[in-house]
Amino acid sequence: MLHNDQLEQWDRENFFHPSTHLAEFARGNLQQRVIKTGYGCHIEDRDGNKMLDAFAGLYCVNVGYGRPEIAEAIAEQATELAYYHSYVGHGTEASITLAKMVLDRAPDHMSKVYFGLSGSDANETNIKLIWYYNNILGRPEKKKIISRWRGYHGSGLMTGSLTGLELFHKKFDLPLAQVMHTVAPDYFRRDDLSQSESDFVAYCVAELEAQIAHEGADTIAAFIGEPVLGTGGIVPPPAGYWPAIQAVLEKHDILLIADEVVTGFGRLGTMFGSDHYGMRPDLITIAKGLTSAYAPLSGSIVSDKMWKVLEQGTDENGPIGHGWTYSAHPIGAAAGVANLQLIDTLNLVENAGSVGTYLNDTMRAALGDHPNVGDIRGEGMICAVELVADKDMRIFFDGSDKVGPQIAAKMLEQDNVIARAMPQGDIIGFAPPFCLTRAEADTVVAATSRAVTAVLG
Ligand code: PLP
Repeated sequence: MLHNDQLEQWDRENFFHPSTHLAEFARGNLQQRVIKTGYGCHIEDRDGNKMLDAFAGLYCVNVGYGRPEIAEAIAEQATELAYYHSYVGHGTEASITLAKMVLDRAPDHMSKVYFGLSGSDANETNIKLIWYYNNILGRPEKKKIISRWRGYHGSGLMTGSLTGLELFHKKFDLPLAQVMHTVAPDYFRRDDLSQSESDFVAYCVAELEAQIAHEGADTIAAFIGEPVLGTGGIVPPPAGYWPAIQAVLEKHDILLIADEVVTGFGRLGTMFGSDHYGMRPDLITIAKGLTSAYAPLSGSIVSDKMWKVLEQGTDENGPIGHGWTYSAHPIGAAAGVANLQLIDTLNLVENAGSVGTYLNDTMRAALGDHPNVGDIRGEGMICAVELVADKDMRIFFDGSDKVGPQIAAKMLEQDNVIARAMPQGDIIGFAPPFCLTRAEADTVVAATSRAVTAVLG
């Protein structure tokens, strides 16, 4: 085994880490962490430190770490057939089975699934399919996409544009011209504090209507949103938001993409967020929970309505010109099949709902009265604690104080619990594996409470 010093040097000299302050890392000012193993809700680094991972990696290791059922399925697939492509009608037992399993779980009006590798490439696929769809329908002007500020949809050229976070645009010449953003449905952060929740929904709808009127409905192809805003702050929508938005989209013949990369396959205590909020999307993006990140795999689930037009398109134009070498990779597909089976066998969707509700309730009971805790929110196995300088006046901390990152760091230092300081505001995010126990939820809450007290009193 390599010495830690050697590994650290190689890491700092050779490895370009994503979403990292590159100069600070290279200078050695940003701590390096080498993770060695994981089991259940815990990971362990090379120095033997055990940590309770209350963010499941990047909210993706939904069944928990170290599942032999998935590891064995991957090993068997790699031995039997590590790779074959899925172009021109090719497939494997794993990829065909997984497509059936996905469709069996998806809302009834969905028709087919296209497999990719990441949430970002699945959203790229979605936008291409939407442009193709409108070209086949003879409306080449209908191409713009509306996303939300603080939405997260990936970091490619198009998907980084859809992402409504400044960090993902700044200095990259994004967003692209075809993308525009509308209001984030964050009731806690509303500008007008006198608004009721339903007033706020009406405001979101009015803003969307105004944008559509300004651009012209015949230029707008689709609206993309996560059922629960994720990376932008873990924000469940205000009551009635999705039905109200969907009514506007239907009126203007604008397609809806539900980006379920985080919410798909159980995180909210239902198989899909679309079921949870009564959304009727034309496309659903899936990734993380499809394989619980045991292997990279994503998908675009296409509705009947769009599928018919795609078929018409290939009758008129020949094969669809869209494919990745690794689409439906057999190893990812085998991991997906084993993962979805495990979710069923262990009733993990139900556990995500019940233990997740317990986590949210316990967090509220422990921290709801703290003078610097402005909001505690969540749904199923996802939760956020938002910190404020003044609760009554809802005054936020100055970002440069880095209150959120300080609290997350304290949680790790004091109690070996990993939470995520969300990139937008002082928000501590929790999205543990679905196998979290009530005792582990208690540990997460106690660690949060101790860290908030240590940093803010
Ligand atoms: N969509 C959502 C809702 C996400 O949360 C993410 C990643 O966190 C993505 C898309 C992008 O997925 P990936 O990082 O696999 O490209």
